[in-house]
Amino acid sequence: MRTSDYPFAEDAAGEVRAAGYSLDSLLNKTSFKAVRSRAAQRVSEAMSGTISESATNTQAEQLTELLSYPLARILVSCLDDSILVRRYALAEAKLAYKRMQEEREDLTAIADDLGLHPQGPGPFKIHFAEYIRAAHRMHSPKWKLTNRDLQQGYLTVTRDELMRIMEEAAREKILKGLPIPVDGKTCAALQEYLLPLKEQLDAIRARDRVDLGAVNEGAFPPCIKKMLNDVAKGTNLAHSARFALVSFLLQINMTPEEVMTLFSTSPDFDEERTRYQVEHIAGASGTSYKPPACATMATYGNCPGEDELCRKIRHPLSYYERRMRIFKPLPPERPPEQRT
Ligand code: SF4
Repeated sequence: MRTSDYPFAEDAAGEVRAAGYSLDSLLNKTSFKAVRSRAAQRVSEAMSGTISESATNTQAEQLTELLSYPLARILVSCLDDSILVRRYALAEAKLAYKRMQEEREDLTAIADDLGLHPQGPGPFKIHFAEYIRAAHRMHSPKWKLTNRDLQQGYLTVTRDELMRIMEEAAREKILKGLPIPVDGKTCAALQEYLLPLKEQLDAIRARDRVDLGAVNEGAFPPCIKKMLNDVAKGTNLAHSARFALVSFLLQINMTPEEVMTLFSTSPDFDEERTRYQVEHIAGASGTSYKPPACATMATYGNCPGEDELCRKIRHPLSYYERRMRIFKPLPPERPPEQRT
């Protein structure tokens, strides 16, 4: 098992420390240009979802691969974008998964490093506490504990399932500590690599968004207005409503931070969980989600009833776009006239 294949592992970090290269030499020496280029490639490709393999046949190539990982973490930290941080961790974990699939040796050492202690030659027994810790963010039904054969605290996983669990544990490990504290001098020394990465990041963010200019609450459709009212009153939203609201607000150019602030008054507000959900919907996993169409909203009981414009559109975003582009925002509703 080559340490350069799993650069997030403790053995790899130890090897980097033992090599004794200073940060200054990694940033500035011509002999480490290949390390800097590979680090930038890791980050650039992570934005699109997949980090490609690089040649690691010689010892020098393996050292380049190994050293490029901590440098990639520095680049990600200089860019300081929460969505990029999550995309990067996911792409590194996917690369590790691909390498595990090609691994000829057993996976025990790398599993141990990730806090997993599978038993057996395969299928493997794994303790339920380790399983839950690693698989709790995997949402397809097959990963639910109730769908596994739990016996005396252990459940069985195939080799491929073990590798998927390890991928998830690796993602958490890579994410931990990011962004790392980096000083301005370090980032300045990497400007040659950071500028194109920043441009790429800006382009992806622009592409992922519908350009509707500044947020205009007066143009919100009735469903979104109702959900915002519920949040303001401290009413907990159902999962489907929360997803619809968050994805709608992100699509019309609100930042994840602004959306987080909206939810901070909810009675069940859990900052870490909400941040994960908001950033996931915003595109941390490589896919930025759009809100459901009106028909789906109605199915889940999230359409409070149609106004005149609702009858002409099929999607809450179309409502907003048309209100923004064609119509002026509706005047505030007047209270019904008093009868005498
Ligand atoms: S018809 Fe569509 S846009 Fe209008 S309230 Fe229902 S879900 Fe929202």
